[in-house]
Amino acid sequence: MTLRPVLSSLPAYVPGRTVPGAIKLASNESAYPPLPHVLQRIADAAANANRYPDNTSSELAGALAARYGVPADQVAVGCGSVSLCTQLVQAVADADDEVVYAWRSFEAYPIITAVAGASAVQVPLTAGHVHDLDEMAARITGKTRLLFVCNPNNPTGTAVGRDALVRFLRAVPADVVVALDEAYREFVADPDVPDGLTLLPEFPNVVVLRTFSKAYGLAGLRVGYAITADPVLATALRQTQVPFAVTSVAQAAALASLEPAAEEQMAQRVDEVRRERVRVRDALRDLGHDVPASEANFVWLPLGERTVEWAARCEDHGVIVRAFASSGVRVTISSPAENDRLLAAAADLG
Ligand code: PMP
Repeated sequence: MTLRPVLSSLPAYVPGRTVPGAIKLASNESAYPPLPHVLQRIADAAANANRYPDNTSSELAGALAARYGVPADQVAVGCGSVSLCTQLVQAVADADDEVVYAWRSFEAYPIITAVAGASAVQVPLTAGHVHDLDEMAARITGKTRLLFVCNPNNPTGTAVGRDALVRFLRAVPADVVVALDEAYREFVADPDVPDGLTLLPEFPNVVVLRTFSKAYGLAGLRVGYAITADPVLATALRQTQVPFAVTSVAQAAALASLEPAAEEQMAQRVDEVRRERVRVRDALRDLGHDVPASEANFVWLPLGERTVEWAARCEDHGVIVRAFASSGVRVTISSPAENDRLLAAAADLG
């Protein structure tokens, strides 16, 4: 059989491993299971699983629109925000068009760009592990169709501030789409890091991508959403969606998660992550690691050539972390008890 040549050169998406008996701090998941009433709604929805789901997740899109004060036609729901990233590339880029993103950033960007047949333009992070927005803007050509700005950035946790982001957005031509990937938005504590939604009125080419996988703790159900400044782009995301991509169970769980009581619980969990992030960061810095400030639910250890060995030795201590060979290790901030295990391992490894 003949496969497309691009498949032989695709980077692999390496999911965080699960090892019996070890704790997994490798996938930026929530440490906690869904809330009891969310589990109840999941069970209720599962009872109707003989029926196809609402193809456009209209009730959920409406609830998100109400929550964020935008018209429902500017909201698109997807099978995880990674699916929305894919749909976005498919919506805007033809073969050989260019997609610009920082590197290192979310591992899925190179894969979905290559699979779409588009060309990736990777712009190195600064020495401080932050997006180099000026350079990203400078790399825009007549072929650029899309730029991803991952804010906060996975895997470094670093975030760009309002002034830098606004200056960048003003430099991007109006017909080039900017995706603000805010998968970790709920964990941001620095008031200077803008909520992408506040930028939509000024920038009609911006789309904000968010997810229920991280702060809302529904990673296993696969539901994310896009809020666009221009309804045309939300329509394009629906056009490029696989039919029935978001299950009825996922839609029900996400809807239940938006109820005020659930949002309150979520905010408490997020507060714990923010507190623990500072504690873990400071402890790792005390051990001599040059950990950049993180606005997400993970921290970055720039270990360079020691990366793979450090991660393997961590695993010997029963702690699974995410190694990016020759670059660094990303560690998810989890419950206090699990973070203690990481710190104990780190202290032992030096
Ligand atoms: N964007 C970023 C930056 C991520 O780190 C992730 C998950 N690792 C996603 C998007 C996708 O999340 P999901 O598909 O689970 O919504």
